[in-house]
Amino acid sequence: AKHGGRNRLAEFVPAMTAAAQRSAVLERELRRAIEHEQLAVHYQPQFECSTGRLIGVEALLRWRHPDHGPVSPAEFIPIAEESGLIVQLGAWVLQRACADVAAWEQAGGPALTVAVNMSARQLREPGFIDDVTRALAQSGLAPHRLELELTESLLMEDVPGAIAFMQAIRAIGVRLAIDDFGTGYSSLAYLQTFPINQLKVDRSFVQLLPGRGGTIIHAVLALARGFGLSVVAEGVEEQRQLEWLRHAGCDVVQGFLLGAPMAPDAFAARFLSGPDE
Ligand code: C2E
Ligand code: CA
Ligand code: CA
Ligand code: CA
Repeated sequence: AKHGGRNRLAEFVPAMTAAAQRSAVLERELRRAIEHEQLAVHYQPQFECSTGRLIGVEALLRWRHPDHGPVSPAEFIPIAEESGLIVQLGAWVLQRACADVAAWEQAGGPALTVAVNMSARQLREPGFIDDVTRALAQSGLAPHRLELELTESLLMEDVPGAIAFMQAIRAIGVRLAIDDFGTGYSSLAYLQTFPINQLKVDRSFVQLLPGRGGTIIHAVLALARGFGLSVVAEGVEEQRQLEWLRHAGCDVVQGFLLGAPMAPDAFAARFLSGPDE
């Protein structure tokens, strides 16, 4: 549908909104960022709720623009998805995440799991399973140490396709989590069809604790237990939220209270070189 190039574009450009212009610019800049290595993967720690033990990390993509400073993934991930750049970017995040976590262990740190976020575009990409296999092989990370985070809306876009994808991922031993659980419109019935390992309760519920947030999280914990899934609460910012979650029997916690996303070096310095190592 891109025939008649020049005239069409000339007509169209003046009508572009400021937001559309910004995203066109960001797409161009993002391509450059990939080439010039302005991107980084940061890691946020996850702790076992009952013991306080560090058990894993979530990998979060960061972009520091040379002129504009940090650009939020909430802004550039959708652009990367639309332009297809996410495929290349996602493969790179997987590779970095597996390599960093494997390296920490080789340096004497604990055997952490690493959660990597996925977008819809990657799920439809035929080469994705190969990207995962390659990232694991190159890093030497055991498959069960890698977890892919999928959102409900992503899964509901194409349920049979999503199930086939999830089965292929589970077949190579990689774990699956549903991210932002409770915010999309999923059908609870699918919980028994989706071959998942974990639910991540959205931080909007954690922030409502105790009250209404508590009612919802109790329900999620009961549901998860029934299906044999573990539960991560994200966005824990206050001590009283942490205490509530521990009391309620939540499995894993993550949030600014316990540690913000950090560059790999900062993460290793803070969590992997303690006096008790
Ligand atoms: P998400 O997967 O829900 O990631 C959690 C977000 O919450 C992160 O934002 C994290 O920095 C932030 N966060 C963590 N703890 C707290 C807390 O205690 N309070 C509050 N208010 N926020 C907290 P971030 O890094 O800006 O990422 C935003 C979103 O961008 C992510 O949401 C995810 O959907 C997407 N994203 C990030 N990295 C990637 C990636 O490599 N691939 C894909 N496809 N998406 C990514
Ligand atoms: Ca996530
Ligand atoms: Ca989330
Ligand atoms: Ca989110």
